[in-house]
Amino acid sequence: MRRKLAAGNWKMNGTPASLDEVAALAAAQPAPACEVLICPPATLIAAMARLAGRGPVMVGGQDCHAAAQGAHTGDIAATMLRDAGASHVILGHSERRADHGEDDATVRAKTRAAHAAGLVAIVCVGETEADRDAGRTLAVVGAQLLGSLPEDATAADTVIAYEPVWAIGAGRTPTLAQIGEVHDFLRAELTARFADGAGFRLLYGGSVKPANAAEIFAVANVDGALVGGASLKAQDFGPIVAAL
Ligand code: 13P
Repeated sequence: MRRKLAAGNWKMNGTPASLDEVAALAAAQPAPACEVLICPPATLIAAMARLAGRGPVMVGGQDCHAAAQGAHTGDIAATMLRDAGASHVILGHSERRADHGEDDATVRAKTRAAHAAGLVAIVCVGETEADRDAGRTLAVVGAQLLGSLPEDATAADTVIAYEPVWAIGAGRTPTLAQIGEVHDFLRAELTARFADGAGFRLLYGGSVKPANAAEIFAVANVDGALVGGASLKAQDFGPIVAAL
């Protein structure tokens, strides 16, 4: 049985005052039925981890470098995230792929580094609108999936997030049938390639809101969500957590 996961990606948003939202979320959802994770900017990880303590909210990073340490100005190592209190790290988000030219090989190397540090990697895949219009969605996400995962990835150390690039921050989502088609395809690819492929969690991401969470979570092979804008406020993220 796959444990559901509600993951928030704060992206480049948040100040120390935003930690109040984590306290409010924990108060509103003291015993959630799913795992709850928030990935704040790196500057807030340690403070958020201290605040979250033994409560229901886990803390993650939004990226890490593939190397263990060294001359990489501005980057952060997976072990540093772990030392700060993170248990997870998002890798290969489409904004990293677009803004920083990360390709599948880079994401795979980062995923290896995350696993070596004992972090759960949340590996993102997703097609652009042009890909979808050209009928290339499954080919694109399939290639990203296989190219971004190390051969020894397991359901325990890796989560997949399907985030159509055109749905991120856009206020529009694929149809439930489109979400189901991609999640079924990812499940089949994982099952064909990994012994425990049936156990990997598959998150949907892209304009998840309290109003659409329940219907998305009812789609087969959707094991939770990776939420951007609606994870910033407890009043929005709380109902999404509750819908799982
Ligand atoms: P939004 O929920 O703001 O569309 O962002 C999705 C996302 O990119 C999460 O990683």
